[in-house]
Amino acid sequence: MAVAARAKVLKSQGVDITFFGLGEPDFSSPPVAAEAGIEAIRSGETRYTAPSGTDELKSAIVQKLKRENQLSYSNKEVIASCGAKHTLYNIAQVLFEEGDEVIIPAPYWVSYPDQVLLAGARPVIVTTREKDGFLMTPDQLKKAITPRTKGIILNSPSNPTGAVYSAAHYEALADLLLKTPLTIIADEVYEKFLYGDAVHHSIAALIPALKDKTIVVNAVSKTYSMTGWRIGYAAGPEEIIQAMSKVQSQSTSNPASISQKAAAAALLHGAPFVEKMLKAFGARRALMLEKLNQMDGVSCAASAGSFYLFPNVKALLKRSYQGRCLEGSTALASFLLEEGGVATISGEAFGADGYLRLSYASSEEVLSRGLDKIAQAISKLK
Ligand code: PLP
Repeated sequence: MAVAARAKVLKSQGVDITFFGLGEPDFSSPPVAAEAGIEAIRSGETRYTAPSGTDELKSAIVQKLKRENQLSYSNKEVIASCGAKHTLYNIAQVLFEEGDEVIIPAPYWVSYPDQVLLAGARPVIVTTREKDGFLMTPDQLKKAITPRTKGIILNSPSNPTGAVYSAAHYEALADLLLKTPLTIIADEVYEKFLYGDAVHHSIAALIPALKDKTIVVNAVSKTYSMTGWRIGYAAGPEEIIQAMSKVQSQSTSNPASISQKAAAAALLHGAPFVEKMLKAFGARRALMLEKLNQMDGVSCAASAGSFYLFPNVKALLKRSYQGRCLEGSTALASFLLEEGGVATISGEAFGADGYLRLSYASSEEVLSRGLDKIAQAISKLK
């Protein structure tokens, strides 16, 4: 957001900026969802709902989880919130407190550690390696577990790396997860954004013994390009979901009734929209990978999911501009913004210096021009 703010200032001063920082698809919401929202307003569905969401939305979520993830839940085991960020916040408030530790593999989505801290608990960051595909190894997990471990946050496909846990990898972690009295928070908001032969696995479906200790988190935000509608949801053990509902009822009361209508329509009828959107993302990713890997000092792994690439820029950090060394990827992102007119996000924001996060939620034309600008800016480094 800091990058976006500075980029906007530069843009308002007339500087031509290309944004690679966007964390949301650039498509309009599916017409079927928009129409359902409009109809909700017209028909007066504009009042408070149950704190955990309407039965209509919860049923649509239950159906979705059954149909697409092979997971069975009842409406009581499901809650809708104001975006997945809010869902995750509620989970942290309900599950964690002072003295608890929560394992978070890095690079991580920026809100995880702060939400754990806000609950009074301690984030335990496990730094994954590029050579392991940015996936946490069983050995790393084993070392991170202590008697204080209360939870683990798994995000597959990942923001920012695009890494996707395979079935075999989850199975390799399962023994340790089963033995430890922790709750698994499985953030699956990018589940549809897969490329090549990558497959998304819901850990709770893949390893049924883990279902009772897993909370599945998802949203309509990314899947249906509905970030502004603010609907996320969770499914998990009833006791936890009901506690989340209590917390929610004392903060936001309920997610917006209109958005709930739109989200239910998206979950039930939005599949063709998703397919069309994903075709565009596949072509963008191919373009990005090709151009990034042609750049001197940049190497970018073909990660299997999400709509981000996470190029390794460590070679560039050894170079300087106008006699001044670039000290870390935040300095590089600043340089690219000020000198190249491109807004990227430093890997440091995600706990991984030496990398940049580039979103490809823009048209191929915009991306292509932006990548040329990056190449040009890099050529100024000595
Ligand atoms: N989880 C991950 C990994 C994300 O990247 C995001 C948004 O960037 C969210 C959750 C939050 O999504 P929402 O917009 O539904 O709050």
